[in-house]
Amino acid sequence: MPRKCCVPGCNSNYDSEIKKGGPVVSAFRFPKAEERKKLWLLAIPRKDFSPTANSVVCMKHFSEDDIIRYDLYKTKDGTTQQLLLRCPKLKEDALPRIFPNLPKYLTKEKSVVRNDPQERKKSFQQNRRSN
Ligand SMILES: [Zn+2]
Repeated sequence: MPRKCCVPGCNSNYDSEIKKGGPVVSAFRFPKAEERKKLWLLAIPRKDFSPTANSVVCMKHFSEDDIIRYDLYKTKDGTTQQLLLRCPKLKEDALPRIFPNLPKYLTKEKSVVRNDPQERKKSFQQNRRSN
């Protein structure tokens, strides 16, 4: 059974959604390191919440930049290949910052924008096509 997202207003992996045929959303456990855990808790707009070992935050709250979907490996001829991960991973400095079901002001944009949205969309589509 997929674990339910702990973000308020998000119903990822809730039984009602799954029954409706909703997609199972990859979800990530809280970081073990206290400092990072604190940052996650600050980022998540939920009062008086202390995550348990089973608390997860689903993928919808992370920016594409923070999600690792591919493993890179070198082939014998020296080229780098991408291998799609069955379970996406988070980068070490990833923080939940997208809260689609909550007021806009709670969604924190990354201060450093690496690509403009158009470009990102393009590369995302390219990634998808190469699957
Ligand atoms: Zn969620």
